[in-house]
Amino acid sequence: MNCRSGIDEDLLNRALRVRYDVLRLPECESRGINLLFRRDDLIDRHCSGNKYYKLYYNIRAAREAGCHTLVTAGGAWSNHLLATAYGAAQHGLRARGVVRGQRPERLSDTLRDAQKAGMELKFVSRHEYLSLAQRSGAFRGEFYVPEGGANEAGERGAEALGQAIGATQDLSHACVCVPVGTGGTLSGLVRGLPENTLSLGFSVLKDGRACSQLGTQLAPGHWRLLWGFHGKGYGRALPAPLLAFWRDFERRHAIALDPVYTLKMLWGIERLAALNYWPQGTKVIAVHTGGLQGRRGFSQVIDWPQPIMDV
Ligand SMILES: *Cc1c(COP(=O)(O)O)cnc(C)c1O
Repeated sequence: MNCRSGIDEDLLNRALRVRYDVLRLPECESRGINLLFRRDDLIDRHCSGNKYYKLYYNIRAAREAGCHTLVTAGGAWSNHLLATAYGAAQHGLRARGVVRGQRPERLSDTLRDAQKAGMELKFVSRHEYLSLAQRSGAFRGEFYVPEGGANEAGERGAEALGQAIGATQDLSHACVCVPVGTGGTLSGLVRGLPENTLSLGFSVLKDGRACSQLGTQLAPGHWRLLWGFHGKGYGRALPAPLLAFWRDFERRHAIALDPVYTLKMLWGIERLAALNYWPQGTKVIAVHTGGLQGRRGFSQVIDWPQPIMDV
């Protein structure tokens, strides 16, 4: 096994076991584009998708530093906040989640689950929230994980994703796709993939501020960030074509998507195929980054026949 940058074997082995499903999207099929869906949503029962990778080395660093508590921040439906709550619990750490705004009368399902997993919730003003986000390791025994798990340790975890794809797929005519929030996952992915593999990031944000990380960490190279497929922006109601695509996709494939990230990437892949963006014979590997718990906070959610996640 090629462990070139010292990726932990446990993490890599787990990443190597993730399966790929063949997807038949009409615009891709008719143009001879092979679309594979890497099911990282299934990587862990609780801590799904890219958050598993991004927390891996953060948890390790916290333990090695002798910290007893993970502290992080996020919104009411944050995949990251809940993943941190579970990750901390699994490793015998305490967790504190900092949430913007006043404590609501009724907690969101996500916050309730985080609390059930042992996370202490702290509600703060926007101003306090921002100042907290800039501070790290402020208190002894506490380990601060930035919102979204977007730090060097998070990227190093995502590197395992790239390495696993490199080890399990022939990448000679391939393009690897991920949805992008902070860009930490894309950044790690690119670092882990063989150098000449093209990666595409589909931004779910309308503007690039949150992706500032990419500019500083990733040299220009075999990756692109695409902005045209965010729907109406982060967490916003979906435009009709996206909603139709979502319904149709889930009916055909019986694979649940989260509406904030993975749906937009797949929609983008299909649109790009329609524009003849990819040469015939391209293998497009799309990463299902998980986050299905967030469906619960979405007003246009589609019913799903079975429980979507373990909580
Ligand atoms: C957090 C998240 C992302 C974004 O990852 P970044 O590393 O912040 O770009 C993508 N997909 C899902 C499901 C997420 O929860």
